[in-house]
Amino acid sequence: MKYYDEESYRFHKNDAADKCFCCSQNAPRLLIVRHIESQMMVHLCPECMTEHSDDYLLDNTRPWLGPKKIT
Ligand SMILES: [Zn+2]
Repeated sequence: MKYYDEESYRFHKNDAADKCFCCSQNAPRLLIVRHIESQMMVHLCPECMTEHSDDYLLDNTRPWLGPKKIT
């Protein structure tokens, strides 16, 4: 049985896996959150998540892939 619909976890077309969706910074740690306006998943840096918490939603229904380690 399929637990969730893949369609619900589409990433926003303007999202990049190594950049913050909001400020376009290449942050060492990005969160995967839902952009409420478009209902799409996006990558967000912790600063933007804190500043714009009304526009984004942490989605914990899927296991985290873990932060990317950039050294
Ligand atoms: Zn940001």
